[in-house]
Amino acid sequence: MGFFNEKIETMKRGDLDALIEERIRYTVKYAAENSPFYKKWFKEHRINPHDVRTHEDLRELPIISGKTIRDQQPPETADFQFRCVDWREVFTLHETSGTSGTPKAFFLTWQDWERYAEKYARSFVSQGFGPGDRVIVCASYGMNIGANTMTLAARDIGLTIIPLGKCTFPSRVITNYKPTGIVGSVFKLLGLARQLKNENILPQESSIKRLVVGGESFAEESRAYLAEVWGCQVYNTYGSTEGTMCGECTDFSGLHVPEDLVHLDIYDPALKNFVSDRECGRVVLSTLLPVGGKSGTLLLNYDTEDTSIVATRERCACGRTHMKITNPQRESETFWIAQTPFNRVDVERGVFQRDNMEYLTGEYEAFLYGGDDEGETILRVSVECLGRDKCDRKAVEENFLRAFFKYKPLLDQVHADGTFRIIFNFAALRDLELYRIKGRPKRLVDRR
Ligand SMILES: [Zn+2]
Repeated sequence: MGFFNEKIETMKRGDLDALIEERIRYTVKYAAENSPFYKKWFKEHRINPHDVRTHEDLRELPIISGKTIRDQQPPETADFQFRCVDWREVFTLHETSGTSGTPKAFFLTWQDWERYAEKYARSFVSQGFGPGDRVIVCASYGMNIGANTMTLAARDIGLTIIPLGKCTFPSRVITNYKPTGIVGSVFKLLGLARQLKNENILPQESSIKRLVVGGESFAEESRAYLAEVWGCQVYNTYGSTEGTMCGECTDFSGLHVPEDLVHLDIYDPALKNFVSDRECGRVVLSTLLPVGGKSGTLLLNYDTEDTSIVATRERCACGRTHMKITNPQRESETFWIAQTPFNRVDVERGVFQRDNMEYLTGEYEAFLYGGDDEGETILRVSVECLGRDKCDRKAVEENFLRAFFKYKPLLDQVHADGTFRIIFNFAALRDLELYRIKGRPKRLVDRR
């Protein structure tokens, strides 16, 4: 099976753009008629929904954020202002994980489930999964949309899903069912590999042929190391409750955006204008509904607070025409020192230098502090050692610094003059702060 939905996935650019504009018009009309929030929003901003006809027209509309959604649900308002359908048509309700405060509520109709599932199905097929494959889903079930709709995606591909919902499970799941793929996060899959090795099962010699990672951005170095440990390809996905679900194909040249189902625009930092392709900016998404379709919650011009780049809108070597974006990074994990931005991923790149992995598990956390002197900044990087006594600390530090400063000359300068200091902490196994905190670990925290 080459494509899940060949007609749509390989549609010529002109036809695809026409389909997108048709869906923008319908979705805006649907929002104006069915969403209590958007009804008010169009009126307050004196926008006639009929005037929103093209992708460029979206730029004239205000941008909403996670805060907008939280402000439009109880206890702030009596009811959920983003819910577009009667309770009788809400099939499931979901909450975002709430890493940045109060969870946001999302209501899905059965049609929404089918569209979310189709996005995952296209992604699975583009990664080479097909009938007979058996895939362990380590992503959590619960209130998340991802694991649930990913499971539905298997239905029309002939995939078998093993719905474990976590990455710690008995090794018999691997030895008995001989799964061919696992969906999980980079760190959980590295942890699982260590667990298997402790039980004398070599991940490279297991039945696993592909790993699918997602849920957070990562450094290419950590992906390469994960691929080495498991001896297989590692595919990236970018999914969210808000409805992204972009997936990397076998060409490994970016994540395909299912452009007929979700519209992504990349904006400048002020969120005023689109940036050009190949320029980095904020990812702003709008739901796209097929004409006649129904949705429980839809978003127009929603600021994801992630940054990315449109890599290309040309046809991919895999045959798909839908645009590709680079691995998005969280804006909230980007910090500025000496007019230079750096992201958690830059710290991760330093940790995962190949030679370091002889001594480290890959688990890390970093904290920014103000120093004793005015204008001084300290980055404290804690790495988990496989064995603290055997760790070549000097080599790890040097490898880290070389990688970290490679594309950041100004940062390197302030490091050299002493106003930016990097302190390393070599932690014993399970001795990082993140092990003592529940939920998704924060690996780069500003404590200034
Ligand atoms: Zn492709």
